[in-house]
Amino acid sequence: MPNNPFKLPYGRQSIDEADIEAVVSVLRDDWVTQGPRVAAFERSVAAKVGARHGVAVSSGTAALHSACHAAGLKEGCEAIVPALTFAATAAAVRLTGAEVRFADIDPETLCLSPESAEAALTGGSRAILPVDFAGQPCRWKALSDLASARSLVTIADAAHSLGGEYEGRPVGSLADMSCFSFHPVKAITTAEGGMTVTDSELYRAELLKLRGHGIVRDPAQFLESAKASEVWDYEIQAVGLNYRISDIQCALGISQLRKLDDYIARRGELAALYSATLANSDLLNLPKVACGRKSAWHIYVVRLNLEALSVSRAHIFEELRAQGLGVQVHYKPLHLHPYYRRRYSLKRGDFPNAEAFYGSAITLPLFPAMADQDVLDVCQIVNDVLHSYRR
Ligand SMILES: *Cc1c(COP(=O)(O)O)cnc(C)c1O
Repeated sequence: MPNNPFKLPYGRQSIDEADIEAVVSVLRDDWVTQGPRVAAFERSVAAKVGARHGVAVSSGTAALHSACHAAGLKEGCEAIVPALTFAATAAAVRLTGAEVRFADIDPETLCLSPESAEAALTGGSRAILPVDFAGQPCRWKALSDLASARSLVTIADAAHSLGGEYEGRPVGSLADMSCFSFHPVKAITTAEGGMTVTDSELYRAELLKLRGHGIVRDPAQFLESAKASEVWDYEIQAVGLNYRISDIQCALGISQLRKLDDYIARRGELAALYSATLANSDLLNLPKVACGRKSAWHIYVVRLNLEALSVSRAHIFEELRAQGLGVQVHYKPLHLHPYYRRRYSLKRGDFPNAEAFYGSAITLPLFPAMADQDVLDVCQIVNDVLHSYRR
């Protein structure tokens, strides 16, 4: 990793010769974009996660925005978003004109609390966007029950959880629409890219329209009768964007998907090794996976026991970075950022579980190419730094 400033970044892609060959072969081919590999990648991901359709787009953010649009979110509607998530979950809602209603997380699993989500609902609520934080699926049974009782569309932000399972069902088959990201730190990569999967033909049609300028080419789907002779004709049925992904990226995605099970298994092994090695530390709280759920282990987040330490989280963080560990913090809750704080008059204290987590969290390096010894080295550094600041 010559260009990375850290010996061990918090996450990174795994690229092998088969991936390189797959990408290079597209460059020798006629289609570098809008060719056959996009549809092939969509079919492979959808089949893998137990969904009927997949619509691949240029990023996970584009997938979330497309899903919010397909769900009919618009000005005058609201959608529930956990306070603890990446910027994109809430931005996807706002980009449709709808308003965000934040809800708190469950303190153990760090996923959207169904009770907090229910309390945040209003008459204008149309959708709910649970985030499978760190790779652990949310309490989907409770969330689905809530959604059906209140006629809400469920849009899973599954950017962390491709390869995860809830009660034996794969992530991707649990919500009305599920959105994946293929950024290099995620489970599989297309460099940049994303996908929404769904069982609904209706949502699929809307996702495709937003991806491609609102254009419909199939005469059977035309709103106004087409002249059979005008073979070039198409209809613009809505305002859309260019959210397309290229064949170059999808060729990489197809090759990466073949290794998804191995990647997830390796992530699970490394996480288990972290947990076993750090289990005896009273200076740390380790991540917990609730029963009935298989985490995809996107990130391994520990929480510092700050009461037993003589320095701040920031101090520990900087020392770990100085020792070559590319630690991170995921995430500062969205309601503490100026845009949302000001727009919705939010303040510190509004979502105590998300804030308490944020106050002590540090993400340790975790990616499939790590060796067992890398994990042991990280644990050694973490333990040494923490013990030097024991109160
Ligand atoms: C990565 C991520 C996204 C956005 O994905 P991009 O492909 O980077 O646009 C959305 N939500 C969460 C929780 C993420 O981690």
